[in-house]
Amino acid sequence: MDSNIFILDSSAFYAGFYRSLHCKFYTTTSILQEIKHLLKSSITLDLLISSGALVIQDPTKESIDKIMYIANLLGDIKKLSQADISIVSLAYQLNRILVSDDYSVLNVSNFLKIKTISLGNDGIVTLRKWRNFCKTCRKQYAPTIKECEICGNATKRNYKKFHASF
Ligand SMILES: [Zn+2]
Repeated sequence: MDSNIFILDSSAFYAGFYRSLHCKFYTTTSILQEIKHLLKSSITLDLLISSGALVIQDPTKESIDKIMYIANLLGDIKKLSQADISIVSLAYQLNRILVSDDYSVLNVSNFLKIKTISLGNDGIVTLRKWRNFCKTCRKQYAPTIKECEICGNATKRNYKKFHASF
């Protein structure tokens, strides 16, 4: 996998991730709608688009359907906007690293083994490894299991953070 190609969510634009050098970026029309005012004020963004370093591409209906199906399965569908769905679908379709800070976006991506990077307010890049486990007996389960098979308590999802450098 080409490691300097990234799919950018709106949060990645706000965090200034598009300023990373020697990278190629992809985003969707609906994400671009969300960051309109950034576009107006940023010469860098203009240059990225005109030079082809930032490509605007919309996902196929097939990958959107797949993401909607998984988001529904995981219970994240209500928390995802149309723009969120579009960006996860594109990352899935192109099999590239998705840059986002949105919990549900990251959760659905993780389930589909889409690689993600999240950016903290401090600019630290972290990779998240998600797991689903029983709060009481700590047994780990697949992401769709909501109740522990051993003690019957509700399962909980959380993630471990790994610092990474790019
Ligand atoms: Zn348990």
